[in-house]
Amino acid sequence: MDTTIPEILTPETTIMNTTARNRQGMYRVVMDQFEHAADIMGLDPGVRKILSRTNSEIVVHFPVKLDDGSIEVFTGYRVQHNNALGPYKGGLRYHQTVDLDSARALAIWMTWKTALAGLPYGGGKGGVEINPKLYSPGELERITRRFTYALGDNIGPDLDIPAPDVNTNPQIMAWIADTYSSTKSPATRFTNLHVVTGKPLGAGGLEGRDRATGFGVVATLKAWSKRTGKPLSGMRYIVQGFGNVGYWTSHFLAEEGALLIAVQDASATIYHANGIDPEDLNRHVEGNNRSIAGYDKAGTLTPEEFFGLPCDIVVPAALGNQITASNAGNIKAQVVAEGANGPTDTEGEAILRKNGVDIIPDILCNSGGVIGSYYEWLQNKRSESWKIEEVLEMIHDKVDSAFNKVVVTAEEFQVNWRDAAYIVALRRLEKTYKERGIFP
Ligand code: NAD
Repeated sequence: MDTTIPEILTPETTIMNTTARNRQGMYRVVMDQFEHAADIMGLDPGVRKILSRTNSEIVVHFPVKLDDGSIEVFTGYRVQHNNALGPYKGGLRYHQTVDLDSARALAIWMTWKTALAGLPYGGGKGGVEINPKLYSPGELERITRRFTYALGDNIGPDLDIPAPDVNTNPQIMAWIADTYSSTKSPATRFTNLHVVTGKPLGAGGLEGRDRATGFGVVATLKAWSKRTGKPLSGMRYIVQGFGNVGYWTSHFLAEEGALLIAVQDASATIYHANGIDPEDLNRHVEGNNRSIAGYDKAGTLTPEEFFGLPCDIVVPAALGNQITASNAGNIKAQVVAEGANGPTDTEGEAILRKNGVDIIPDILCNSGGVIGSYYEWLQNKRSESWKIEEVLEMIHDKVDSAFNKVVVTAEEFQVNWRDAAYIVALRRLEKTYKERGIFP
């Protein structure tokens, strides 16, 4: 009997191979970073060719009935960059800026991030081109379920495992897991729970996954503080984006005795020289359609004033390409901790470095999230459940270990931490390809 399972593509699915394309936006930034690091370390030319392309790029157009009875057709993406180290892993974003280039860039960053963290994963990313604020909860559920159905068997617990990203949350992950499992035979329903991570606790989620990314950001800041001998206590910090990553980073930084003085999100920029209480602001956000606008215990600023505020730590925790040639020169902080993916573009980075601002690179700084996801996946695979203290300790160990590898590699090659983080990741991938060879 032939036991091989053919790849099933739903009629709504198309797969395209990557060809040479114009580079723009975040895709240009990630490729600039990759090529620079590959040059420094002398990456094997064949491996370099492989990693320069994505394995597959899935675009789906799917219809959904809206509350008023009309039908809308949405476009969703899933880019699978590389799976040399394990199943593709990475978030799904619901945002009007989601397109093939951004999904491609974010998928590539995931390959580096999982390789650097020592996880058995490759890199993928995707999402739906949509402003979710325009849709009711019922519509979002139908959009999510139909998107999952359209992706079909292009995702799977041992193939490609999505997770939350901008504007997606545990509820959306639960709908994905339920839809995916419901299309499988009843006998395998519970062997598919780990098709997605970042689920709510009642749907197979992990204690602590909600805070994993922010916890990891602060773990890297603590490691930076230890290395530089600059205590976090008393430092002033500003945070762009007050969603999952921005809030939890603020929460854990406040625990270290640092003072949150400004926050910017899609709705407003707020500032208070004596500090903003992250917990109080979070309560406001939860009751205010997830935005900081209207928070009356701080003043407001123009968006342009944000990055130039006098402070010690800048945490970009929103979208990509936020620190650019137009504002990097204003940054007075000692360190930029990249909670977001790709927040600093190539030109912005050059200015920060010239001005002596330290950068904790995204693929290290925000890796606590995918590390948390790894433990959720393992927990589901083993039908276990772990306590939050154990989970946070395991995340801390992995983030610390990646940080140490980056520091050692930076010294070995006499390069900055971004280049060093890439070199650690690329060395692991290169070794795997060299040992395994290329089929056939
Ligand atoms: P989220 O949806 O919970 O929050 C996003 C925040 O960004 C919101 O406060 C939103 O208002 C703000 N924002 C959107 N557009 C903005 C703009 N133009 N200017 C200023 N603020 C803006 O998303 P999240 O999960 O916190 O993700 C934030 C970033 O962190 C993304 O880059 C994501 O890829 C990255 N990240 C997330 C995780 C995770 O576990 N969620 C893990 C690693 C990295």
